[in-house]
Amino acid sequence: MKRRQFLTAAGAGVATAAIAKPAIAQSAPEVKWRVTSSFPKSLDTIYGASDTLAKYVAEMTDNKFQIQAFAAGEIVPGLQAADAVTNGTVEMCHTASYYYVGKDPTWAFGTAVPFGLNARQQNAWFLAGGMDLLNEFYGGYNIHALVGGNTGCQMGGWFRKEIKTVADVSGLKMRIGGFAGRVLTKLGAVPQQIAGGDIYPALEKGTIDAAEWVGPFDDQKLGFNKVAPFYYYPGWWEGGAALQFMINKPKWDALPKQYKAVLQAAAALADTEMTAKYDSRNPGALKQLVAAGTQLRPFPQEVMEACYKAANELYAETTAQNAKFKKIHDHMMAFRNDEYLWWQVAEYTFDNFQIRARARG
Ligand code: CA
Repeated sequence: MKRRQFLTAAGAGVATAAIAKPAIAQSAPEVKWRVTSSFPKSLDTIYGASDTLAKYVAEMTDNKFQIQAFAAGEIVPGLQAADAVTNGTVEMCHTASYYYVGKDPTWAFGTAVPFGLNARQQNAWFLAGGMDLLNEFYGGYNIHALVGGNTGCQMGGWFRKEIKTVADVSGLKMRIGGFAGRVLTKLGAVPQQIAGGDIYPALEKGTIDAAEWVGPFDDQKLGFNKVAPFYYYPGWWEGGAALQFMINKPKWDALPKQYKAVLQAAAALADTEMTAKYDSRNPGALKQLVAAGTQLRPFPQEVMEACYKAANELYAETTAQNAKFKKIHDHMMAFRNDEYLWWQVAEYTFDNFQIRARARG
């Protein structure tokens, strides 16, 4: 009797050992998703975040959770990526939240707002409650978002003529996105919404006077230096432009806890990788642009001050009209002020010394 019990128990043990697989195989269903990007494959630094996400999600789940990446236009146009997530056409997208300010200006905070945060600060804000606030807002659009990269501080863009005074901004036809365009409107500029691929011919023909895109590495690829000689900085409307992976909320809610963790880890990796790629690629591109004749210019102080004043007017108007905007605006700007209190001590002093030391050789 005892011997039989022992054999049965031992047999069960052997059987369990024989069929035991890694925990992942027991709890991991097969999941196949599509991620539609707002970007073309030619802009590999920014588009590449989708490939990075897909690669690590597959490897971390032994290919049980597969995400296929599609470039802008393959499933839906780049600027309809979030809508495709809201209505469930795709499970997720990789996009810039501020493309959708036409729905509500509150969408701007997920990417960048004029005189907002730099890249480090933007990520710190996400962690310090910003992403929870954004997801509360995105929830109204059936979306749950994860971090998806950051370009770092962008350039102010390509200008056919020099900007020496605030008066030079008046009448300027500039390709610039949503909320930042509204700031420039206050200075008399005429902002234009033009997709990336259409900027070059518009600038070449003089249909527009100026265009902003990203920074040296991406801008050089699109060839803007051939049609506009002056390259201004900084892009005060994008001190650290963040991207998002946006997920259809019911799809997110239905994922096993393990897959949620995998997605978050892969997104965080893609996020860090994008900033690192831009930081490593921009210096070489900048050197090549300048060697080819590009004229680098900082925006004059009076132009920066006028834009800052105009941005604050726009914030005052928008917060008075829009409670959702006000809630996130107030949280982010309080955070920004504390960040710069800290930044002016060690970070700025170190960077400032290093920049001067490098120039001395
Ligand atoms: Ca830009």
